[in-house]
Amino acid sequence: MGAVQGVATGIAGAVTVVALVLVVRAVRRIVSVIRLGQPDPTRSVDRRGRTATMLREIFGHTRMLKWSVVGVAHWFVMVAFLLLVVLVLAAYGEVVDPAASLPLIGGWTGYGLVTELLSVAGLVAIAILMGIRLRNLPRWRRRSRFAGSTAWQAYYVEYTILAVLGLGLAVRGVKAAAGTLPYPVWAAPVSHALGGVLPASGAAVSVIALGKVIVSMAWVIVISLNVTMGVAWHRFTAFPNIFFKRSGNASPALGGLRPMTSGGQPLDFDRADPDTDQFGVAAVEQFTWKGLLDFTTCTECGRCQDQCPAWNTAKPLSPKLVVLNLRDHAYAKAPYLLAGGGKANNGDERATPERLAGVPASALAEAERPLVGGAAQDGIIDPDALWACTTCGACVEQCPVDIEHVDHIVDMRRHQVMIESSFPPEAGAMLRNLENRGNPWGAPAGTREDWTRGLDFEVPRVSGGGDFEYLFWVGCAGAFDDRARRTTLAVATLLHQAGVSFAILGEGETCTGDPARRLGNEFLFQMLAQQNVETLREAFGDRPRGRRTIVATCPHCFNTLANEYGQLGGDFDVLHHTQLLSRLVASGALVPVRPVDGGLTWHDPCYLGRHNQVYTPPRELLSAVTGEGGTGRVVEMPRNSERSFCCGAGGARMWMEERIGKRINVERVEEALATGARTIAVGCPFCSTMLGDGVAGEQSTGAAGADVEVVDVATVLLRATRPPSEPEAASA
Ligand code: SF4
Ligand code: SF4
Repeated sequence: MGAVQGVATGIAGAVTVVALVLVVRAVRRIVSVIRLGQPDPTRSVDRRGRTATMLREIFGHTRMLKWSVVGVAHWFVMVAFLLLVVLVLAAYGEVVDPAASLPLIGGWTGYGLVTELLSVAGLVAIAILMGIRLRNLPRWRRRSRFAGSTAWQAYYVEYTILAVLGLGLAVRGVKAAAGTLPYPVWAAPVSHALGGVLPASGAAVSVIALGKVIVSMAWVIVISLNVTMGVAWHRFTAFPNIFFKRSGNASPALGGLRPMTSGGQPLDFDRADPDTDQFGVAAVEQFTWKGLLDFTTCTECGRCQDQCPAWNTAKPLSPKLVVLNLRDHAYAKAPYLLAGGGKANNGDERATPERLAGVPASALAEAERPLVGGAAQDGIIDPDALWACTTCGACVEQCPVDIEHVDHIVDMRRHQVMIESSFPPEAGAMLRNLENRGNPWGAPAGTREDWTRGLDFEVPRVSGGGDFEYLFWVGCAGAFDDRARRTTLAVATLLHQAGVSFAILGEGETCTGDPARRLGNEFLFQMLAQQNVETLREAFGDRPRGRRTIVATCPHCFNTLANEYGQLGGDFDVLHHTQLLSRLVASGALVPVRPVDGGLTWHDPCYLGRHNQVYTPPRELLSAVTGEGGTGRVVEMPRNSERSFCCGAGGARMWMEERIGKRINVERVEEALATGARTIAVGCPFCSTMLGDGVAGEQSTGAAGADVEVVDVATVLLRATRPPSEPEAASA
């Protein structure tokens, strides 16, 4: 070993020891913070499925590839990062001996070729990602997905990868110049080309290899000193975070909400005690450990923010910033919690002053901050942000590491509503109506069947006896809201026309509880849901699964019946009306004969699309009504399918004022109008109201033509099934 190698070895050894000590300390800290969360026994079932999903999502980049260029570039960076570990190991050998190579594989040409290709691809890929970041800086795009991300950390990670890959090629170049690179030119063309300009020096190999070790270990030291540096740590935490996602399959945490839990068990309201049980989340340690792992894993990529309707219309909500604020708070508060600190439900401190004596003042101060509170209270999550969420699920759907934003937001709402009684006052009327009348409008239950009057056929009631194939769940909007009633009439008429056997519950129906649950009133949801589950069980009698089919026109009812009633023992087969109607058209039971003029565009309802992956049936229906060869007249909006943009009504936002920023429905209507379509087809009563109001507003200013209309796809189909000789007015 020469003098250069001797000094280099000493430096490499010293920096590595420091890095290892710090990283062990950092990992212990991260694990201890995550363990502060509440238990969640549901996360370990189906380990085989979870492992398969984790490997597929990470190595197949199944979620990242939705952003194709970014996804491909990130895949190469991920593989190059794994390669970096091997290259850094090789560098230790080269620090000691310039001619050294990895044992067993180091001299193999195949290894030389793969490492050469991945080094070059990794360099190109990281350059692309850096370019994308620079092009999207908040200074150029105010609503950039990177707004609020910690810029220096991202740059630091990117330049480190760039430097280590570059230094790796430089080492090979110097070796090629010295004739010690064991690979032929065809297997290592870039290294050999560099060898043409680099010196043939053993000392240079060791010095450059030392540079590689120092840069790599500096990265380990920096991330160890910054345990909230998700842009770096997600390389490790993404594995468990995806493994422990809500289900073992590819589905993100959408559809049904998680039940409210206390101590890891679903809360039973018959026995729950607000003095001892946890009602929602009032403090960061009341999230489950999976929640704390979520916050730790956030990469700060901002994909969630980019898709969020609230963020895009200048509201104070960004799902990314919610996660980052909770993460930073959790880690800042952790020393206090780890010392045994924490507040009982009555606000009393659990730890003795002696136990808290050694806790840093900053952690004690952090512990005093309310989880939900405005600037005046120094809160972690601003109430305006909490209540701006439409629970549209765009954030969850887009997150590459399966963070479950909606569950966390609703958990915080639950505490605000049930314990603090703190929520937008205008939503109070909706809750009172649900409690007293079983529907958000407060309409008398006796008027639920009024929509059936005037039809030229009898709508069968379940209570009337007789067999039925489908239970038509009308929903509160479908029964009481004028616009939605048109959809109800259209569906009933189409089913009758197609000879489908169906029946309604009529006055036996009550709200599914969706708005109460999304607002955070789990108690009210359970009350309504239990009542409905009983009614439905009675209606279906002893029928087996497969013959307990409900068809609903409202995606919120559809979602609750299909995905949430199971939590209360109600297992049914649930269809959205577009699914059933699409089958009836495909089977020839319904035949569109009058093509729709003027072009159509389809607005995916969040609770039909993202939450339940029903994207195709409504599109098939619309294609069918545009006539032969006319499918091109269904024009997609730029934001469609899983990236569809919310109408603004979900998450009980339908019942709250929208005072901040641009109205979400106006943003969506502008997008729909830009397609030039005269018919904006919807499949949800709330979308119908929101987009209908938006179009009316645009028409009043002349920004939209008088002939543009928002109409449910069932009504579109009903019109299309009427012979051209029959006036349109007859078709609902
Ligand atoms: S659910 Fe929708 S509105 Fe709520 S934070 Fe996520 S993207 Fe934003
Ligand atoms: S998409 Fe997921 S990882 Fe990216 S910023 Fe949002 S929460 Fe974090």
